[in-house]
Amino acid sequence: MSLLTQTFVPYRQAVVIGASVAGLVTARVLANHFDRVVLIERDRFPDGDGPRSGTPQGHHAHILLARGRELLDELFPGLQAELAAAGAPLMDFTGDVAQLAPVGWLMRAPSGLTTYAASRPLLETRLRARVLADSRITIREGCDVVGLLGDHNRQVVGVRVRNRPTEAGQHADDENLLAALVVDASGRSSRTPAWLHELGYPMPTETVVNSHLGYASAIFMPSAGFQTSWKGMYVQPAPPTDKRGGVIWPVEGGRWVVTLLGMGRDYPSTNEAAFLAFAKSLRTPLFYEALQQAERLSPITGFRATENRLRHYERMASWPDGFVVLGDAVSAFNPVYGQGMTVASMSAVLLDRCLAMQRRRLGDSALAQVSRHFQQQLARSNATAWTLATGPDLRAPDTEGTPPSWFDRMMYRYLDRVFVQATRDAEVVNRLFHVLHLSTSPSALFHPRMVAAALRGTPDMRVQPTTAPQG
Ligand SMILES: Cc1cc2nc3c(=O)[nH]c(=O)nc-3n(C[C@H](O)[C@H](O)[C@H](O)COP(=O)(O)OP(=O)(O)OC[C@H]3O[C@@H](n4cnc5c(N)ncnc54)[C@H](O)[C@@H]3O)c2cc1C
Repeated sequence: MSLLTQTFVPYRQAVVIGASVAGLVTARVLANHFDRVVLIERDRFPDGDGPRSGTPQGHHAHILLARGRELLDELFPGLQAELAAAGAPLMDFTGDVAQLAPVGWLMRAPSGLTTYAASRPLLETRLRARVLADSRITIREGCDVVGLLGDHNRQVVGVRVRNRPTEAGQHADDENLLAALVVDASGRSSRTPAWLHELGYPMPTETVVNSHLGYASAIFMPSAGFQTSWKGMYVQPAPPTDKRGGVIWPVEGGRWVVTLLGMGRDYPSTNEAAFLAFAKSLRTPLFYEALQQAERLSPITGFRATENRLRHYERMASWPDGFVVLGDAVSAFNPVYGQGMTVASMSAVLLDRCLAMQRRRLGDSALAQVSRHFQQQLARSNATAWTLATGPDLRAPDTEGTPPSWFDRMMYRYLDRVFVQATRDAEVVNRLFHVLHLSTSPSALFHPRMVAAALRGTPDMRVQPTTAPQG
């Protein structure tokens, strides 16, 4: 721990730990309130649009929900047009994606819930370029944050950074970087619990829901003559009988990112023959048939750290001024629900709002005092995404976590009926997906139209998965 006795904290400077999506969108909003924002990133960035080691998700299907698309376009006007110009196809989530739910193929009809299907590395590179175009923001790459700096009031007043050796093997000394506000956006592996402990704070409690889901992914190029009615396909697992699923997601360059997924430790393999056998074992033959029409362009990469993990900073009895945590560092979701980037964007917008309110009430010099209030607001803001991710996971028998309550089980039965009706009713799909894309409050699930759908959608109306998707 570093305790500073005499500090002159530059109250117009903010520091962000981690320059992935949460860090980048946060830097963008901090520039509305601080003269200087410094992003500190452990990785060195690759030339071009390739994945990097700090964001292994770059190898896998990585989908920006409709709400995330809207927010990123507000924060970075014209970003979506830029992605389109780079070749990312426009996707309507209910019109262009063939989705096999446990109850059958969902009805396909355009809903206006759209996104540009960019690969994760392309999206991150473009976001980084936009952020760096702002002269108030700088990024220090190849630089590790190794601790927080606290003062005698236990306020956070900066970070301790360690530069990684240069390619020529040169080392630099550790240094202190002072700031009025430090934001931890360092992802699932965030060291904040340990850093806060060093400053004398208790460890936060955590909630973990782990369905032991694993990914294996590769890039494919569909053959020139390959024609389908869909642009993307999502085969959902249907536990307990079927723990396997897969995603075919088009990205720039006319390519597909193909991700296979298995719950309950039924992990897909990175061996080519076993990968294809897994694809062949899915509930519909259409997925494997599509792969047969495509050429693999990349090695197959696996990923297994997919548990939902919620760190309850909002419940801590005391919290330091000058420090906030957001993104995966607070609330990491099972990636199969595609929420992480959208939640990170919502969190940045929330921080912007909290800082603006604080400035109006108390002035620029009081921005550091926003921390505790923000952490509590964030917990509320993240709650819907958490429920949408952990609810389905907790239904699977192998999932670790608090078992569903009686109320939860009633909700599952209700939603099952809604999903059955979503196989035949475009309006039901539309309303359902607005909730799943975090565009509408979950209360929309109880709109009279949805209640009527649930009354009609009895489970014996399931659609056979082998029939072709509608649309
Ligand atoms: C396999 C997989 C698939 C996913 N699919 C989707 C999807 O389809 N849709 C979606 O919205 N989200 C998805 N996500 C989640 C999404 O990628 C994240 O939610 C999003 O990137 C925001 O995370 P973050 O920025 O908080 O953390 P991360 O993306 O984990 O980034 C943390 C950054 O901090 C850096 N860092 C860590 N420690 C330090 C340190 N001490 N000092 C300096 N730098 C540090 C890391 O190098 C990294 O750049 C997926 C995640 C995974 C793993």
